[in-house]
Amino acid sequence: MGDLGVGIVGAAGRMGRMLVAEVARTPGLVVVAASEAPGSPALGQDAGTLAGLDALGVAVTADASALVERSDVVLDFTVPAASERLAALIAARGTAWVVGTTGLSPAQEAAIAAAAKKAAVVRAANFSLGVNLLLGLVERAARALDPAWDIEIVEMHHRHKVDAPSGTALALGHAAAKGRDVKLDAVAERGRDGVTGARKGGAIGFAALRGGDVAGEHTVVFAAEGERVELGHKATTRAIFARGAVRAALWTKGRAPGLYAMTDVLGL
Ligand code: NAD
Repeated sequence: MGDLGVGIVGAAGRMGRMLVAEVARTPGLVVVAASEAPGSPALGQDAGTLAGLDALGVAVTADASALVERSDVVLDFTVPAASERLAALIAARGTAWVVGTTGLSPAQEAAIAAAAKKAAVVRAANFSLGVNLLLGLVERAARALDPAWDIEIVEMHHRHKVDAPSGTALALGHAAAKGRDVKLDAVAERGRDGVTGARKGGAIGFAALRGGDVAGEHTVVFAAEGERVELGHKATTRAIFARGAVRAALWTKGRAPGLYAMTDVLGL
């Protein structure tokens, strides 16, 4: 069987460049298309050169439709509006899709779920092995510790990140809520400021720090009278997300339509 053709959306972004490099070095995968936002200075440039490699002979275009048509699998770490538009193209072609964009509205997430009825879609707020392991540990800890243990989630990311709390922090919140058999939306406290009153029993709190070049740090704090348990993960390079996304891309080969998580890919 031939190589899987990979299309990379947002190929000039921080993750996009990492993805181009990771796909280029992975046997069984080949970069066949790359796109960027209309008006991007990267249009017309070679995707390989942008990623710091030798030229791959793949020019960056603004034509997402042609990219989906040419690809066996599409890698998408962009912005919510771009992922939402891509959902319709994916659904129409049935092309496999690995989507890591965060900060989507419920309606935009629903567009991804709708595309997954027609195509194999791997959706994760975080593609690293460590964070996907952490999700399971947090759910277990939340189930084991009674609600007298306050749960707080602290995250830090680089200064360019546009959404808060991070998609990973929210995924950790969902895991903790699942462990307690509650819905995160019913108990989340996002962003405290001023006279907020005492902490509500059973709340799951979030705090977001931004600065420098931090690739991603998350700590889930379980705090009780007299003791505290902290479960955390530190990413020191974005390469872990690109590696996970590429692993997911390979995993989609021959896969039936459906909405899959990174835990499915990793068999966790
Ligand atoms: P970035 O701003 O560096 O890159 C995003 C790129 O998308 C930009 O180059 C932008 O021009 C491009 N883009 C915007 N609209 C487009 C369109 N219509 N068509 C094609 N390209 C378009 O951001 P980043 O740090 O690379 O992160 C991108 C996204 O991935 C964010 O939502 C971030 O939170 C998420 N992310 C997810 C994971 C994960 O593991 N799931 C890891 C890291 C980052």
